[in-house]
Amino acid sequence: MTTHRTAAPESTPVREDEPASSVPEVPVTTSTPIADSGQPAVGTPRAAPVDPHESTPTEPTLPRPAQPRVITVSNQKGGVGKTTSAVNLAAALAQNGLRVLLIDTDPQGNASTALNIDHHAEIPSVYDVLVEGAVIREIMQPCPDVENLWCVPATIDLAGAEIELVSLVARESRMAKAVAGLQHDLQTAGEPPLDYVLIDCPPSLGLLTVNAFVAAQEVLIPIQCEYYALEGLSQLLNNITLIQTHLNHDLHVSTILLTMYDARTRLSSQVAQEVREHFPDQVLEATIPRSVRVSEAPSFGQTVITYDPQSTGARCYQEAAAEIAHRGAAMKDDA
Ligand code: ATP
Ligand code: MG
Repeated sequence: MTTHRTAAPESTPVREDEPASSVPEVPVTTSTPIADSGQPAVGTPRAAPVDPHESTPTEPTLPRPAQPRVITVSNQKGGVGKTTSAVNLAAALAQNGLRVLLIDTDPQGNASTALNIDHHAEIPSVYDVLVEGAVIREIMQPCPDVENLWCVPATIDLAGAEIELVSLVARESRMAKAVAGLQHDLQTAGEPPLDYVLIDCPPSLGLLTVNAFVAAQEVLIPIQCEYYALEGLSQLLNNITLIQTHLNHDLHVSTILLTMYDARTRLSSQVAQEVREHFPDQVLEATIPRSVRVSEAPSFGQTVITYDPQSTGARCYQEAAAEIAHRGAAMKDDA
């Protein structure tokens, strides 16, 4: 298990969205599930592992899409919040009763870590799917802390996959085939389909990202509200157009999410305004603030949705997930 669990801060955690130095050390909420030891507090209920093939009995509290939505979370710029957004949106959608699979296609395995999914070298992973042609249904693991959420982990093996893929047949569409195969396998087994498949991409435009683009209908681009935010975006959009033209006509940028917004700086609001002017239809109303709780959650093998559900970061990811789900429902109505 490679999840790195750091000890919790000696004292109680800093409050949301405030500089650590200026904030009295007050717990944000009594629902914070972490004791000072960094371990789940005694008596904190921990969800039992769920059967990945079990059906969801309860009605979802967000609209189900008419068709399963496959969304690639991509931006070749590093550290803009791809993984953080992928895992938190996935957890938020799943908590609302939708069935969600997150596929980690980054050899760093950060999404697997944040979902507390075992991803040491021997674990069957996305590498087996892409290179060995393995079946996703046999590899996906239930997320121990969030019902309705599964993950195909990435292990260190994936680091060599870009090179190994080059010589393989249908090297760009291996993920697409596996995702289509999964939907078919679920149907054959009489199990409910997944509502969402989110794919977390590495910060590059190599074959792993190309596979994710070919497998999806939608691209979600997280944009960090900082200087240089739009740099490289035209290259990303050009690549998406190329994929659209040659490999996947359905692909389009459906969603842009502004991340790490800092309300105290004029720069953040300028970047946000500029992005909204360029992409009025794609940018979500919800903006993710820069937040200590969001950044510390993965070190406990958690999303902020479970780590501190009342925090601003968790609430903003919940809002973003709701917008995504409602937009999907509107697409269904338009059809
Ligand atoms: P990479 O390109 O390496 O895959 P990424 O685009 O997936 O990176 P993340 O790993 O999600 O980016 O985030 C980069 C860093 O910023 C991480 O340390 C993460 O904890 C932190 N971070 C992300 N979102 C926020 C936020 N809203 N507030 C504070 N820190 C954040
Ligand atoms: Mg990442």
